[in-house]
Amino acid sequence: MNQNEKLVQRIKKWQANPYFHPLTCGVDSMHEILEPVEKDGKVSLVCPTCGWVQSYMPAVFDLPEPP
Ligand SMILES: [Zn+2]
Repeated sequence: MNQNEKLVQRIKKWQANPYFHPLTCGVDSMHEILEPVEKDGKVSLVCPTCGWVQSYMPAVFDLPEPP
């Protein structure tokens, strides 16, 4: 699994975890929760409802995998 795939898995786990606040759309937080999308070798967070793209990756996803 490459780095981008790991990041996508980490984001999906975060978004599915009811104990974490999910990442939501910057246009309207009532839209569906953001989905990780890999494009041109880079993972972005995209709103499935309107296509809004978050311009940065939250630092929490850069942390090393817990043991
Ligand atoms: Zn949206």
